[in-house]
Amino acid sequence: MEETQLNTPVYRGEPIDIHGVLDRIARAARPPWVQDNVSVSDERLPQRTTAPAYRRTSRFPHKRVYLSTGVHGDEPAGPLAIAQLMEAGAFPDHAEVWVCPCLNQTGFYRNSKQNAVGVDLATDYRKLETEEVRTHVSWLKRKPNFDVTLCLHEDHTTKGFYLWEANPDDIPSPGRRIISRVAGVCPIDRSDTINNVPADNGIIRSYGNPYAQFEWNEAVFLATHKTKLSYTLQAPSQLPLAVRAAALAAAVQAVLDWVKE
Ligand SMILES: [Zn+2]
Repeated sequence: MEETQLNTPVYRGEPIDIHGVLDRIARAARPPWVQDNVSVSDERLPQRTTAPAYRRTSRFPHKRVYLSTGVHGDEPAGPLAIAQLMEAGAFPDHAEVWVCPCLNQTGFYRNSKQNAVGVDLATDYRKLETEEVRTHVSWLKRKPNFDVTLCLHEDHTTKGFYLWEANPDDIPSPGRRIISRVAGVCPIDRSDTINNVPADNGIIRSYGNPYAQFEWNEAVFLATHKTKLSYTLQAPSQLPLAVRAAALAAAVQAVLDWVKE
């Protein structure tokens, strides 16, 4: 093996059987979970679904939590983490939860970051050029606002877990609790800068003017239109898939525990 290969591991992503994972999620989505697929809302059109989604209803006073993953088809840890959490019954009764477990299925078929026509959906939440994102945004607009949103991703450039927190009003937030929970199962990237952005013990706090940005990812859309507290969770692709899935699941669990309080 050449030295460069030793020094710079190249992530090619373990393909997963996305249908198998989504079947596991569908089987685990027993009441009070209900199906709430991301689909075209115009009644004049035939019902077309672009992504599976579920809502967990609650009879109790509750917070509203939104989870999504599978925007990038070469990041299998997110859908796997959702399957594990739902099978484990991790979701409390006092939270109303929406889950989109795979927003880019055609990317998973090709094990590629982009969708089937080569578009990175994480650039399209302002331009709305892809059917996947147009339909998803229309679905999101029909939902109430969320108390907290979590977008589950992987990053192949870092050796540890980190997160982005968008919290423009500086409300109480579980960022540090997420990091300490994840640290039990996965290394944290504690660099002073991550992807050239200042970071503090695995947390990037960032909220620029979204309207100065031409390309919005999902988290920017959510922070602009749907929530005061938005997280993007980044598991390190260089570590084994089981570790990445455990890291993302631990982060979600930390937030579910926090909303109980
Ligand atoms: Zn990603």
